[in-house]
Amino acid sequence: MNPKLSRRVNEMTTSATLAMAAKARELKEQGKNIIGLSLGEPDFTIPEFVKEAAIEAIKQDYHSYSPVDGYGDLKKAIITKFKRDNNLDYKPSQIVVSTGAKQSLANLAQVLLNEGDEVLLPAPYWVSYADISLLSGGIPVEIPAKIETDFKITPEALEAAITPKTKMMIYSSPCNPSGSVYSKEELRALADVLVKYPDIIVVSDEIYEHINFVGEHVSMAAFEDMYDRTVTVNGVSKAYSMTGWRIGYIGAPEYIAKACNKMQGQITSGANCIAQRATIVALENPPSKIQYMIDAFKERRKLILELLAAIPGFKTNEPEGAFYVFPDISYYFGKTLKGKTINTAEDFAMFLLEEAGVATVTGEAFGDDNCIRISYAASESDIKEAMRRIKEALS
Ligand code: PMP
Ligand code: GLU
Repeated sequence: MNPKLSRRVNEMTTSATLAMAAKARELKEQGKNIIGLSLGEPDFTIPEFVKEAAIEAIKQDYHSYSPVDGYGDLKKAIITKFKRDNNLDYKPSQIVVSTGAKQSLANLAQVLLNEGDEVLLPAPYWVSYADISLLSGGIPVEIPAKIETDFKITPEALEAAITPKTKMMIYSSPCNPSGSVYSKEELRALADVLVKYPDIIVVSDEIYEHINFVGEHVSMAAFEDMYDRTVTVNGVSKAYSMTGWRIGYIGAPEYIAKACNKMQGQITSGANCIAQRATIVALENPPSKIQYMIDAFKERRKLILELLAAIPGFKTNEPEGAFYVFPDISYYFGKTLKGKTINTAEDFAMFLLEEAGVATVTGEAFGDDNCIRISYAASESDIKEAMRRIKEALS
């Protein structure tokens, strides 16, 4: 707490993913051997054709402010992508390009929430949904789903969480952190509840869309009766390994897109112009061009699940997408290891960092305090060595 700072920032929590990544970086700089499995960041390089598009954009002297909501030809590429991959029809006036999907989400919270509005978060949920909602005056309402139900909520639990104050629901499928993928039937069952409450806006975060090992990706907005009240969020950070290039986008009902455009115009303006040009080329290429990354993630998932199964006290579901495992490690609560008492997932993650040199993230940040999140967007050798060290530290 610093009284010189606003209540807003004093009350805000630091992003646990970024905090753990910063801590791991700091320890590495001190010469410690740390394996970073905390950040959801693909370790692949950006596909050559995307890099070339960025170089070409610089050569063509792209340098000035772009339209706030993105270049017209990028919006066209996004519209084509939405139709091709998701069977969604959007007009240019329904698309807004932002500085990462994180900004897309922050825009949405700012333009949709009033003080006291409730935001439904099927838990576990991505770390920033709660604070992004709080910053805009919203109240996060968790709908807990445990490992026994593959971390997916039921229609009954969804309906029970709805109140007259519910304004919005945010979820990701494939899910960060659990890797769960809602099937078409499961999403339809949730939609059957939501259609009874037409004032609730659904934010469907589909940033892991392509990192899906079970096949079908389903967009909530593809259900005709949900289209008018669903915002589809996506971006190029995960599928194209473009995390640092900061491009995200939405397809939304026009009035919401217009409001995001207005909000963004006062806060950041259009996203980076070179990255926007490169994104056109990334999206114009078929998803088959990035299949090699998905195949590699699938192999790594198999590897990490096998290695985790050999460590006592880790209870893990089989993630169907994204690149995380979210094991329940509550077996260790109340135990003392190497003189350190483990009472929480945070204690456990700190133990792994200090005693095994492996950075993970506490599940508390994702709304499940029995779990930790391990990212397997890392090389096979790092995954093997990390699991070896964890097993040794716990034995
Ligand atoms: N949503 C989810 C579920 C994420 O994991 C992330 C993390 N990158 C984001 C949104 C934000 O992505 P971006 O890099 O586009 O801001
Ligand atoms: N989304 C990634 C993660 O969950 C990147 C970090 C972040 O943006 O919080 O690790």
